[in-house]
Amino acid sequence: MKVGTPKETAPDEHRVALVPDTVTRLSAAALEVNVEAGAGSAAFILDDAYQKAGAKLVKTAAALLSDADAVLKVQAPSVSEVRLMKKDAVLISFLQPATQGDIVQALAAQGVTAFSLELLPRISRAQSMDALSSQASAAGYKAVLMAAGRLGKFFPMLMTAAGTIPPARVLVMGAGVAGLQAIATARRLGAVVSAYDVRPAVKEEVQSLGATFIELPLETQEGQGGYAREQSEEFLRKQRELIGEHVAKSDVVITTAAVPGRRAPLLVTGEMVKAMRPGSVIVDLAAETGGNVELTKVGVDVEVGGVTIIGTRNVPSTMPLHASQLYARNVANLLLHLVKDGSIALDFEDEITKGSCVTHGGEIVNERAKQMVTAAAK
Ligand code: NAD
Repeated sequence: MKVGTPKETAPDEHRVALVPDTVTRLSAAALEVNVEAGAGSAAFILDDAYQKAGAKLVKTAAALLSDADAVLKVQAPSVSEVRLMKKDAVLISFLQPATQGDIVQALAAQGVTAFSLELLPRISRAQSMDALSSQASAAGYKAVLMAAGRLGKFFPMLMTAAGTIPPARVLVMGAGVAGLQAIATARRLGAVVSAYDVRPAVKEEVQSLGATFIELPLETQEGQGGYAREQSEEFLRKQRELIGEHVAKSDVVITTAAVPGRRAPLLVTGEMVKAMRPGSVIVDLAAETGGNVELTKVGVDVEVGGVTIIGTRNVPSTMPLHASQLYARNVANLLLHLVKDGSIALDFEDEITKGSCVTHGGEIVNERAKQMVTAAAK
């Protein structure tokens, strides 16, 4: 069975779905590993390293895709890439079925069996395959560094001969995987950190990282599977009113709030930004799903009254080496879960296989993906 990884073609995507480490693992499982020449270059991984690990270099994406039994990617393939793939080939990548219905339909029409990492069940057994978590950790870490790079202040308290500098105040809104990593990173840099989430279950995790958990007099919004449920506009209005004073006092605000399959909730209005001190910095990690901050512009930094709002797209791709290393391990673990004795052996009774498979046998087989594709088409 041939496994192939092409070079990513999406703009500003520097990650790669296979690293030399995982080539060795897949080869040990009797799989033949092919990689497009230059696939790892944006992640600082040279062709040589892949070859030394046992991969075969293929000159073009077309040659690689038309010969692979399993394709490993970061971003969803384009429709033209899908058309090059073999019928019955397996694809593992992020697919974003909610916004890429045309690609999901093309995969079904081509007869590809596609697995979407966004749909992987978040159960303990699947933790080693959880690419949403590994990439969210990279984003949470980098968000703090981006803020620190922009802030005209130190993060830690400094006691110097020239006087004492107070520590920066960082507020993290949304304490899921990205938020917790942002809290840990800001604490390591010496900031005073507080955090808020609509799920009170995260309070102890926030406190164990040395941050203060902000409790607001609002009902909890815990949904299924450890996620938040969608909140009403009335709830969000009250939340903004109550969190406003904490935002105004902060030097840095990092927003990571999300509800699966929905637009990101609006947490910070333009008025709230205007109440912040000049020089403050906001990093909106939800920029690509609608933004947690009213004034965010995706992919651009905005300055309002001296406050910078950073809306960088695809933050994990800005640290491509480690983000690829973690991602490649997640993908290899999922692939090996689907393989038995060197060939694909799909068990649709298995929660991981069933939950993450989007297309199979010419059809969209996943109910969540079907709903997302139908909703997107309306
Ligand atoms: P996410 O990216 O969907 O959301 C990020 C955070 O935003 C969540 O903590 C959510 O509660 C919060 N949020 C939503 N609306 C908000 C609002 N209005 N104000 C403030 N915060 C708001 O979630 P995620 O980070 O991918 O995962 C969330 C949780 O899922 C984790 O903390 C964990 O409990 C669970 N999880 C479990 C596993 C596993 O068991 N394998 C793996 C990953 C995550």
